Order: sequence, then C-alpha cells, then structure tokens
Amino acid sequence: MAIVGGGLAGLAAAQALKAFGMKADVFEAAAALGEIGAAVNISPQAVKALQAIGLGDKIAAVGTASPGIYTRNMQTGEFLEFHDRHKAGQRFGAPYYTFHRADLLDALAGGLDRGAIHLGHRLTGIEERSDRVMLAFDNGARADAEYVIAADGVRSAIRQALYGADNPTYTGQMVWRALLNSSDVPFEAIEPTGHVQWVGPGCHLLAYYIRGNKLVNIVTQEDTDKWVEEGWSTRGDPDEMRLSFPNPEPRLKTLLGIVTECSKWGLFTRPLTQNWGRGRIQLIGDAAHAMLPNAGQGAGQAFEDSYILARWLEACRDPAEAFVNFRRVRIPRVHGVQRLSISNARFKHMRDAAAQKESIAAGKSSVHGNADWVYGYDAVGEWDKEPLVPAAYAA
Ligand SMILES: Cc1cc2nc3c(=O)[nH]c(=O)nc-3n(C[C@H](O)[C@H](O)[C@H](O)COP(=O)(O)OP(=O)(O)OC[C@H]3O[C@@H](n4cnc5c(N)ncnc54)[C@H](O)[C@@H]3O)c2cc1C
Repeated sequence: MAIVGGGLAGLAAAQALKAFGMKADVFEAAAALGEIGAAVNISPQAVKALQAIGLGDKIAAVGTASPGIYTRNMQTGEFLEFHDRHKAGQRFGAPYYTFHRADLLDALAGGLDRGAIHLGHRLTGIEERSDRVMLAFDNGARADAEYVIAADGVRSAIRQALYGADNPTYTGQMVWRALLNSSDVPFEAIEPTGHVQWVGPGCHLLAYYIRGNKLVNIVTQEDTDKWVEEGWSTRGDPDEMRLSFPNPEPRLKTLLGIVTECSKWGLFTRPLTQNWGRGRIQLIGDAAHAMLPNAGQGAGQAFEDSYILARWLEACRDPAEAFVNFRRVRIPRVHGVQRLSISNARFKHMRDAAAQKESIAAGKSSVHGNADWVYGYDAVGEWDKEPLVPAAYAA
C-alpha cells in the first residue's frame, strides 16, 4: 500500500494500518515532516479514533485540554454562549484537545518506520493499471503499489488525475493567524476560560491556549471581497489584521494590540462530492472532503477516515472492496459535517447581533450548531454501519 501525503491524514492512516498489522510506504512532497506554527482543535470522537490505534498517550502528552469556549459579542463583549468542553469530554468519553500542529504531527509520526517515509517525493503522475498503480515523482523517482491512499490535501494531485480540473475554489473568506507567547497576554484579555470566541458582523475570532498554556493561538475568519492565497507562509500586516475587526470591545482590543506578526490564509473548498476515489485508489482527508473550519472537524474527520479505512482493509480480503465499503459509510457522515460547517459559518457571521443573541438565548441556535451527533460518534463500535446524520444536515 502507498500513502501519498504525509500530513495529518496521511500519517494517521499509516499509524492505523500499522495498528492492524498492515504496511504502507508514505510519499511526502516536503523535505521534512512538519507543520508551520498554528493550532488545531481535536474533538472527543476523533481523539477516540486516535486512542484506538494506540496513540492515546502520545497525543495526551502534547494536547491541552480546553476548559471550554466562551463566546462574546465582538463589539460589546457581551456573553453569548459557553461550550463546556470538560463536560463534553466526560459525556463523549475522551478529552477535547487543542494542539500545536507541529506537536500533533510529531505524535502521529512517532513509532512509524522512517525507512518507509519517503520525503522530498512530490507526486506528479499516477497511472492505474489492472494489477498495480504506477507513481511518478518530481525528483525522478518512480514507485508502484497495489493500492494507493491519497492524503495529499486540498490541492490533491491524485484527485486532479482522477477527476480533472475540480480545483478547490476561493470561498470569499479569509483567515488571520497569529501565535503569541502567553507571558505577553494578560489573562483578562481571554478571561474567563482562556479559550474565547468573539463573533461579529461577517467575522469571528478565536483565541486559545496551546502547548500547556505556553502559547496563545489566534485564528479568525471573515467574509471578504479581497483575494487571498492559501498557505501558511503568506505574511500578513498586523495593522491590516486589526482593521478587520472594527470597534473591538476592550479585551479584544488588548489582544489584537499584542500581535506583531501574523499570516493570512484564503479558505478554499469544493462542493460536496461523491468523488472520493475509485478502483485501486482511495482519497482521504482534505483530498476527499476539504471543508470550512467552522465545525473544527477537517482533521477530526481525517482521523475517523484513517481508523475506519484500516478496519475495512482488515475486514475485506479485497482492498478495492474495502474502499467501496469505506465510501459507503463515510460519505454520508462527512457530508453532514460539511453542511454543519457551512451552517455554523453563516450563523457566526450574522449581521443582526440582536437576532443572533435572541436565537441563542431561546436555545434555537448555537455558534457550534448541533454537534452532539459529531462528538458522540463511536468509530470503534460503528465503523461498519451507515452513520446517523440529523435531518438538518442530511442530503
Ligand atoms: C484556518 C484553519 C483552521 C482549522 N482548524 C481545524 C480544527 O480546529 N480542527 C480540525 O479538525 N481541523 C481544522 N482545520 C482543518 C485541518 O487543518 C485539515 O482538515 C487537515 O490539515 C487536513 O489534513 P490532510 O492531511 O488531509 O491535508 P494537509 O494537512 O494539507 O496535508 C497534505 C500533505 O500532503 C502533502 N502533499 C501535497 N501534495 C503532494 C504531492 N503531490 N505529493 C506528495 N505529497 C503531497 C503536503 O505536503 C502535506 O504534507 C483547519 C483548517 C484551517 C484552514
């Protein structure tokens, strides 16, 4: 088996195969494994999938258990909603972690056979034959494998080879990201939980501790007319970032005032699609189902993919049959999560703050949508069942 892409999805898939006694070679474009400074939230059901492949201790060592997200109005600071993550953790049977991405990636790489991780291998060509898949790389190397897992991200070369120009499109939404030393951030700015979300017209901003409270991660999202490239390395201007959040309440003003370096990132997705692979090739992670980050589930769904794909590969003698079964159980669930994400983005960015507040107070809406069905999913017990998706998020 070959896995193309050594990001969060590809390494989790390599670990899952290993946990079920299967071997894979990983081909990664970058010269070194790594993620650039930023953070990621992993919800309980995805943590459980990682625990089930033996990574529980490794991720616990680098994860920070968030007490909960406190949501405020961006201009008034008024309290809107508290999402208690300790309770969610108890209820759904695993912690709700925040990670520095580099730490999570290191944990996912731990214990893998480094000789089977081929760095500096950017896939440029793929050809499916009757009994094998031929792979060509930009360094001139060639390889072949009986089956291929494509984990090469939102701009997947394999996806393009299979389905032509179904490039992701710019969503008209952009993200600012910054990492601050906690010692520079007065706790009052992110009180009362150290994990705060401000929502405003057409935008929101999250700030939370990672790396054992040593760093504060800021990630934002806004509807914009501007064109913004996708990539961690697009440097931003902190003053421009501040101007994106006009009339911030005092805590947010303090926080934004501390930012001296930031990056910006354009959000690209593609419409929900059944095109998740065929024959000897299976797409997972963002290659299959890139989504807006508003449900905090892109990586989480990749971890569920990895566990469930390994279970099907273990259960079916024919991997192509495993791939078909994988798609049958995964596509409805992931499409539901993608719809949740779209709906959360709309609600968080509502321009009528009074109506937003009223809807939350009346228990009709939440900035997290109805996500119990996402966190309550048990990949270990339900890997072979078609999952339930609430009517609001079903096709
Ligand atoms: C602002 C933002 C915030 C987010 N927050 C969260 C969150 O809180 N929780 C969450 O669960 N998700 C979150 N996500 C989503 C999450 O980051 C992605 O879903 C996740 O990184 C997808 O992992 P992946 O391995 O599929 O893709 P990637 O992380 O993009 O990895 C793909 C890998 O493939 C390699 N590659 C690419 N092309 C080739 C090629 N041709 N040949 C070989 N290798 C190749 C790349 O170098 C890379 O290592 C967020 C996303 C964004 C943009």
